[in-house]
Amino acid sequence: MKKHNFSAGPSILPQEVFQKASEAILNFNDSGLSLLEISHRSKDFVAVMDEARAIVKRLMNLGDDYEVLYLQGGASLQFLMVPFNLLSVDGKAAYTNTGTWAAGAIKEAKMIGNVDVVATSKEANYSYIPKEFKVGSEYDYFHCTSNNTIFGTQMKEFPKVDTLLVCDMSSDIFSRELDFSQFDLIYAGAQKNMGPAGATLVVVKKSILGKTGRMIPTYLDYSVHIDKESMSNTPPVFAVYASYLTLKHLEENGGIAAAEARNNAKAKLLYDEIDNNPNFQGVAAIEDRSFMNVTFTLTDESKQEAFDAAWKAAGISGLNGHRSVGGYRASIYNAMPIESVQVLVDVMKSI
Ligand code: PMP
Repeated sequence: MKKHNFSAGPSILPQEVFQKASEAILNFNDSGLSLLEISHRSKDFVAVMDEARAIVKRLMNLGDDYEVLYLQGGASLQFLMVPFNLLSVDGKAAYTNTGTWAAGAIKEAKMIGNVDVVATSKEANYSYIPKEFKVGSEYDYFHCTSNNTIFGTQMKEFPKVDTLLVCDMSSDIFSRELDFSQFDLIYAGAQKNMGPAGATLVVVKKSILGKTGRMIPTYLDYSVHIDKESMSNTPPVFAVYASYLTLKHLEENGGIAAAEARNNAKAKLLYDEIDNNPNFQGVAAIEDRSFMNVTFTLTDESKQEAFDAAWKAAGISGLNGHRSVGGYRASIYNAMPIESVQVLVDVMKSI
C-alpha cells in the first residue's frame, strides 16, 4: 500500500513523476538508451535542461534579466556561493536568523566576509518570524529564509530593503504566488516541492553579478554557469529530469495559483484540527504558521503511544518532529493530496 508521506524532505512528489522518471531510466524518449547512460551534451538531454530552465521563468513570470541554473551541492552550497558572488571584499551583508538553516547560511557567510544579523527569533526557539528591522544601502545584500522547514514558520511578506534581496526558498518554492521580481537571487534545494535531491535551483538577476572584486573559484561563480547554460560541468541529469517533470506537472495542473489554492485548503484543514482539538497545540506563532511544514505537539504526553500507533496504523509516514523541536511535523508540500491530510485529521480526532 502506498503510504501517506508527510516527510520533510526528500519528500512526496507527484505519482506521475515517479512513473515517467522510472520509464526514462529504462528507455529515455524511446531511444533504446537509459537517461543514465547518455551524454549530458546529447540533443535530448540539452532539450530537457533548456526546458527545465524555461519552465521556471514561466512559472515565476520572470523576464530575460534573470537566469535559471541547476547546480549541485544543495542549498548548503548556496550558503557559500551567495556571499562569494555578492559580498564585496570590504562590504557587509545583512541576515535574519529564523532557524537552523538560516543560521547555517550565516555561519558560511561569516567565513567569507562581514555579516550583521539584523533580526533573530533564536531566543524563542525560532517560533516566530521577526519583522521589526530595517536594512539600508550600506549592505551589499539582505538574506532571508522564506520557510523554516524545521520550526514550521513562514514569511508571509518580504521586507522592502535598500539593497539586494536574496532568499532561500528551499521548502516553499512554487507553493504560493509571489512577485518573484522583488528578489535578486532565489535558491532552493529541489528535494521538496520541485524534484529529487541532487539538483539545486538558482534564479539570479544577471545585473547583480561581477561586482565584488573577489576571485571566485570556477564552480562557485554564477557567471561561469550562466555562460555555459548550466552545463559548465556534468549536471545531475536524473535530478534535473525529474525536476523538469515535476515543474511540467505543476504547469499542466494550473501553475502556482492552483497549487496555492490546494495548499491553503490543506493547511486550513490541519490547523483547524490543531486549534479545535484539545489534545493538540501548534508550535509556531499563529500569524507566522508555515503552510508547508505544520509543527504541533500533544497537550498530554501520556497519549503519545496511542497517537503514534494510530497514525502508523493508518499508513502515515514521516510525521515525527525534528529532534530540536520535538512533537510532530506534517510536511504538506505541493504533491501532498488533501485526502492524505484528511486521513491524518481523522486519526487526530480518534484519540
Ligand atoms: N534551507 C532550507 C530552508 C532547508 O529546508 C534545507 C534542507 N532541509 C536546507 C536549506 C539545506 O538544503 P540541502 O540539504 O539541499 O543542502
